[in-house]
Amino acid sequence: MRTQMATEAGTSTKPSDDRVLLGPNLLVVLDGVTEKAGSGCMHGVPWFADQLSAAIMRFVHLEPGPALKEALRHTAELHAGTCDLGHPGTPGAAVALVQIQDDRLRYLVLGDATVVVDTKQDLLVVSGTGAAAANPDAVDDALVGELALQDVRRLAILTDGAARAVDMFGLFDWPKALDLMASSGPDDLIRRMRQVEKEDAKAVDWPRDKVFDDATVVFFERKLS
Ligand SMILES: [Zn+2]
Repeated sequence: MRTQMATEAGTSTKPSDDRVLLGPNLLVVLDGVTEKAGSGCMHGVPWFADQLSAAIMRFVHLEPGPALKEALRHTAELHAGTCDLGHPGTPGAAVALVQIQDDRLRYLVLGDATVVVDTKQDLLVVSGTGAAAANPDAVDDALVGELALQDVRRLAILTDGAARAVDMFGLFDWPKALDLMASSGPDDLIRRMRQVEKEDAKAVDWPRDKVFDDATVVFFERKLS
């Protein structure tokens, strides 16, 4: 098994709100929801993304859904006393998590992130909605699934700022995107996408809120026996 990761902030003036966790059996990508003027939180999105990342590591002995629920509960407790967690702008994150345990691969997507799994039979593309914020019950809306590890050839996890290479710009389809990552690495996908974004710097050809967004890709491949 081999894992590669690439991440790049959308601008040089603001640190990325994306986070990546890699363990021997764990691949996680988080994308902090862009900060709004009012949030009811004195800490901010980067703090939330850091705390939630740490809490996911703490609870990852559980299956993905329960792990994320406990991580959200724990993170909420860290600032329930100082912040208004009922505020609609309370910090949140998109989370995509892949866990490998024994002969099973489990995934969870909550929010605008994408997991692409290339199996021996077909290609699974999972993109979520919503966000992981203060309420652990949001995890009930996550997209979850489970596959036999032996059927998995390779997979990618992308924040929306990277998935737009395929689902907005149409630079390649998903199989070709995976081929590119396998041959040139996930950083090549981001590099090629940035080139397109630069050429459309006024967001005319591809209308979008963020001309450049934080972009993160984790790419994993198994050697088939
Ligand atoms: Zn707070």
